[in-house]
Amino acid sequence: MEIVACNLCGSDRHTPVYEMPDRRFFPEEIFAIVECDGCGLGFVNPRPSILEIQKYYPPEYFQQPVTKSHEHYLRRRFAEEAKYLREMEDGVGRGRLLDVGCANGDFPRFMAARGWTVEGVEISESSQRIQDFRVHTQEFQDIAVNEPTYDAITAWAVLEHVHDPMAYFRKSAQVIKKGGLFVFLVTNFESVTSRRLFCEDIPRHLYFFTRKTIRQYLDATGFALEREDNGRSIYKLAPMNWLAFMLRTRLKRQRFSFQDVPLTQSEFRARYNLQRGVRASLKYAAYSPASVIDRMLWPAIEAAQILRKTYGISTYVARKL
Ligand SMILES: [Zn+2]
Repeated sequence: MEIVACNLCGSDRHTPVYEMPDRRFFPEEIFAIVECDGCGLGFVNPRPSILEIQKYYPPEYFQQPVTKSHEHYLRRRFAEEAKYLREMEDGVGRGRLLDVGCANGDFPRFMAARGWTVEGVEISESSQRIQDFRVHTQEFQDIAVNEPTYDAITAWAVLEHVHDPMAYFRKSAQVIKKGGLFVFLVTNFESVTSRRLFCEDIPRHLYFFTRKTIRQYLDATGFALEREDNGRSIYKLAPMNWLAFMLRTRLKRQRFSFQDVPLTQSEFRARYNLQRGVRASLKYAAYSPASVIDRMLWPAIEAAQILRKTYGISTYVARKL
């Protein structure tokens, strides 16, 4: 584990926000999330080093279901992502696109079919089978491109995972042509979902951004922020535990800590050795009625969050100056 200073402003003064375990793979390991006193950037501190973080990405993390509905979901997601580049498609035309964190290459492939010349960056092994376009297999800041080369760079749910987001902003600024677009999606640390409900994927998510901190990153690296969308059309961050949080903080006037978070359905089934099914669902409902009601409330809560721009996911469009 390593202790780090703020990646955005360099300050080493910060305030604890919450603590939680790695819910997915190492539930016995607890991590602290802090907020920089200087600029408000959120981050895991101390955190696993570059070498140590590998352990938190076991093969299961990369496995995607091979089903018709997952394919359908991906096609819909890519179509939503592509909307951010339509302005270029209609204007200067389809140019060179670099997708940072391209996984198995499905999004660049989708864009290639729309006429873009595509490349990808991917350090995980999922990139190894990509042969139909160029993939850089280093960390983004280390790729062997140093000149303004791309008309657009996309990074979907990537920046919260990396050890040095500033290096990613700098590298983007270096390799995007003047007037080109940097489009990226991150979780929203201004949302109650990210900040209070223990919904971030810790410690795979290392950084937590707000509109203000994103603006500072862009100002520091030569981009102008053109647009911020707050919503659930590409990725979702359901306000899980919202009801338990409200009951505890508003009704009982108590702190809501991770100990107060009910088990998820799958955690519950694993703990009590239950098979997925009606019986398990009924037992779960008896264990945590608040979770069941919570789920029914999500659509209304999410709609209110999107209206107030406090949903857990934000997409930013920045233009290279
Ligand atoms: Zn800072």
